[in-house]
Formats: sequence, C-alpha cells, structure tokens
Amino acid sequence: MGECGSGGPSEMECRQIAELLGDYFDGSLPSHLRDLLEWHIEGCQPCVAFINTYRGTIAATRRLPDAPMPVELKKRLIAFVKSARDPKQAH
Ligand SMILES: [Zn+2]
Repeated sequence: MGECGSGGPSEMECRQIAELLGDYFDGSLPSHLRDLLEWHIEGCQPCVAFINTYRGTIAATRRLPDAPMPVELKKRLIAFVKSARDPKQAH
C-alpha cells in the first residue's frame, strides 16, 4: 500500500485493464474496480486507444440482440472517451 510513493496510475496495470474491460462493458464489473479502471484510464493514453479499438470490436459483434449495453454505462463511456480524445478540454 503506497510503497511506490508517486501515486500515479500504477495500482492497476494496463494488462489488468484489458482483462477487466469485458466485464466493464458488460456492466458486471464491481464498482470499486470500475473506479480503479476509469482512474487508470484517465492517466493512460494507450489504454484509451485500446478501448477505442475494443469498442469497435463490440460494435462489430453487437448484432446479437440479447447483449444490450446499459444506457447509463454507455453514456459514461462515451463521455470519458470523448474527453480523453480532446485533451484541450481539461476541466
Ligand atoms: Zn494503461
């Protein structure tokens, strides 16, 4: 706990983020993990890029009618992907 000192987004690694994305998009990721994931992504451009790719994959496989994405989750996701793609618009 806090041994690394700098407090950067290192608590989770990008590989872990990738593994959690399925549940994240599912809406089945526990909220504390979701917070960690979003927190990591805010400071990690590679993960944002990866998510954009991942979303493209989902869109391509999304024809299955019984896998709807929760609207609330979708909104959050779109909002943060947008803000991540537009760094000038910082708070
Ligand atoms: Zn990352």
